[in-house]
Amino acid sequence: MARVLITGITGQDGGYLAEQLLAGGDDVHGLVTAGDPLVAELLERSPSAVLHTGDLLDDRSLAEVVEAAAPDEVFHFAGISSVAFSWEQPVLTADVTALGTARLLEAVRALSADTRFLQASSAEMFDASVSPQSEQTPIRPSSPYGAAKAYAHHLVGVHRGRGMHASSAILFNHESPRRPPAFVTRKITQGAALIAAGRQHELVLGNLDAARDWGWAPDYVDAMVRTIRHPEPLDVVVATGVAHTVRDLVTAAFARVGIDDWSSLVRVDPAFYRPVDAAALVGDATRAREQLGWSPTVDFAELVGRMVDVDRA
Ligand code: GDP
Repeated sequence: MARVLITGITGQDGGYLAEQLLAGGDDVHGLVTAGDPLVAELLERSPSAVLHTGDLLDDRSLAEVVEAAAPDEVFHFAGISSVAFSWEQPVLTADVTALGTARLLEAVRALSADTRFLQASSAEMFDASVSPQSEQTPIRPSSPYGAAKAYAHHLVGVHRGRGMHASSAILFNHESPRRPPAFVTRKITQGAALIAAGRQHELVLGNLDAARDWGWAPDYVDAMVRTIRHPEPLDVVVATGVAHTVRDLVTAAFARVGIDDWSSLVRVDPAFYRPVDAAALVGDATRAREQLGWSPTVDFAELVGRMVDVDRA
């Protein structure tokens, strides 16, 4: 049994992780911000999670939460999670996602030299012209989100260098029915379900040619548990190795609700285009397979099907 602190516990990954760890008998603590509207839903699913209020912008609150939780393991998921939002709020993204990680690492280091740390790193920090991307891919972010994640990733490496068991799981896009509709997968699955029910008439999207390596979020959470519990700290890419375009996603989602020709139902609006957008992101998860014994259990068609089915229900 481990004492675990999860930042971002009310998010998609935090919720799945809390459930997985509680089922395994661990003592789960979570960092939440004051007034987080998702707390009630989290406690409904995981009533025995112990929540602590704090803020990545406030180092004193982090020190208090870390001291109260006294964790053996810290999973750091909290931060600005949307690339699109980071273009609107680049300074806040840097403060929360980059400097927030620095504040949290300081709080953990002050508590104990033995606490393990897992950073949810992102493929957005890599050079987007390289495909597939592995742990060796140069770090050359092309969004404020990617730049903030790159700083946090490097800082985790710095702490590893000074002896901390600090790892980074470099996550490619990972989705589930709990993904907020600000992300394209859920926007599309929700849109297809609403259109099939006659409650929405069109779906307005941005770049349909962008390709992403989309995986099943609970698989990625499992990879992160394997990473923090690996004897040696490491950086590890978590991905399926298969890319699909946004157009493929639209086709799969509409097919699931019985609509084969969606051309009159989808409109492209340049407002949803990014200032800079990677054309394709695909990960090479060889290290995760070989060192963690991890592999994805849900493929693209199954992922889209599960999301559409929940949205239809
Ligand atoms: P990201 O890869 O972390 O930015 O995840 P998103 O789900 O937000 O976006 C994935 C891809 O879908 C990006 O290449 C977007 O440009 C593309 N995309 C196309 N239309 C949309 C849209 O309407 N909303 C979002 N969020 N992304 C879109």
